[in-house]
Amino acid sequence: MPDGGSDFDVVILGGGSGGYACALRASQLGLSVALVEKDKLGGTCLHRGCIPTKALLHAGEVADAVRESSQFGVNASLEGVDLTGVNKYKDGVVSRLYKGLQGLVASRGITVVEGTGVLVGPKTVEVDGARYDGQHIVLASGSSTKSLPGLEVDGVRVLTSDHALELETVPPHAIVLGGGVIGAEFASAWRSFGSEVTIIEALPRLVPAEDAACSKVVERAFRKRGIAFKTGTSFKQVEHVDGGVKVTVESGETFEADLLLVAVGRGPTTADLGYEAQGVELERGFVLTDERLRTNVAGVYAVGDIVPGMQLAHRGFQHGIFVAEDIAGLDPAPIDEDGIPRVTYCEPQVASVGLGEDVAKERYGDDRVETLTYDLGGNGKSQILKTQGFVKLVREKDGAVVGVHMVGDRVGELIGEAQLIYNWEAFPSDVASLVHMHPTQGEALGEAHLALAGKPLHAHS
Ligand SMILES: Cc1cc2nc3c(=O)[nH]c(=O)nc-3n(C[C@H](O)[C@H](O)[C@H](O)COP(=O)(O)OP(=O)(O)OC[C@H]3O[C@@H](n4cnc5c(N)ncnc54)[C@H](O)[C@@H]3O)c2cc1C
Repeated sequence: MPDGGSDFDVVILGGGSGGYACALRASQLGLSVALVEKDKLGGTCLHRGCIPTKALLHAGEVADAVRESSQFGVNASLEGVDLTGVNKYKDGVVSRLYKGLQGLVASRGITVVEGTGVLVGPKTVEVDGARYDGQHIVLASGSSTKSLPGLEVDGVRVLTSDHALELETVPPHAIVLGGGVIGAEFASAWRSFGSEVTIIEALPRLVPAEDAACSKVVERAFRKRGIAFKTGTSFKQVEHVDGGVKVTVESGETFEADLLLVAVGRGPTTADLGYEAQGVELERGFVLTDERLRTNVAGVYAVGDIVPGMQLAHRGFQHGIFVAEDIAGLDPAPIDEDGIPRVTYCEPQVASVGLGEDVAKERYGDDRVETLTYDLGGNGKSQILKTQGFVKLVREKDGAVVGVHMVGDRVGELIGEAQLIYNWEAFPSDVASLVHMHPTQGEALGEAHLALAGKPLHAHS
């Protein structure tokens, strides 16, 4: 069997957010790295996830700004949305970042191996018959779209997010199955482009992983925007009808549209890659690790979406950096999963870090949790933007802030400060003494902490 090259310190299987971050950090630390990728460096996030969807959402925001311009005294009319033009813009963003990433990886002396890798030994990955041996192996094969039993995706009328990103025309009517992050984002973008959208969600509320109060604001705003939704409603079947689809839910109610987007979550890409054969412990297809991201097989780590938890690009980056440093003997502190920020970039946005009120009460006890909600009605910049929403803080009584939850236009940009507050275990009084620029939406974070520290400014005590 041919040898793929000299032994590497690290062989990484998968070049997405988790894998390439690990490669970059490992090479920075002087380790020799082979990075195996069967498709394109950058993985889901760059090519089929975060970046293209946020470009679509931004184009939608531009369309909304024109459509709603008269409320700001600006007279403009929207002639239409040309999805070919939107796709050109989106693809341009992706290709510039892709080029940059390829250059970066090349500049660090990382050996990129193109092809499908299989774990054939605890220290060996095989690609097209060549073997790559590593002192350490990092599994980073990511995730892919999934469907429900009996729900067949055809890529034409029944789509996954991968197909939805390639649409060439705006669907006049769309049904989105799943009101989580991906479903809410596509529903929001399509509505901005002029589609009639209906979301079907089995759980009792939209964006169900977020604090219930945030879901309420999103639902109210979606109603106002004309996005229909049915929560607590389970999908039963889809039929192809003339020029579209007919979806039936458990209650027997039916919905017709041009297409159905299946946004019911993503499954780990771990089958037939040699993981099980080499004794790596899996659960429902996910790779089990300890808090140092080590699998049960010595020298084999796992990062990113294949590790149970939130499937987010920056979690993958953090995993990758952590593992590289662990391998290099830097003894990094384990990652606090609650401290990983989350943003749903629909309109309005939802951003959170730390614990929701319910989880905090379970953890500390009902009477040990204090919350404070600062309404964006009191925030000058939010009034200028004509957005509604709030900043909600969850605090352990007499202790640090353990959760920050925000909803409203552009609040995703506030998550940077919110995650510092949570991860540095700030007390309300610590943040209250920091000065926030006026007028910004960031001030709402400052005001919320002022109020929780017992000295509200633009808020009723
Ligand atoms: C529509 C959508 C929107 C999203 N938006 C956001 C967002 O706004 N923010 C956010 O943080 N996250 C977002 N995500 C999630 C984010 O994309 C993922 O969490 C992230 O890409 C996971 O990184 P990863 O490295 O674990 O896996 P991936 O990015 O999936 O990378 C895995 C890589 O491994 C390769 N691979 C797999 N098997 C093999 C093999 N046998 N041999 C060689 N290579 C292999 C794949 O080709 C792929 O490139 C979104 C996802 C989707 C689908």
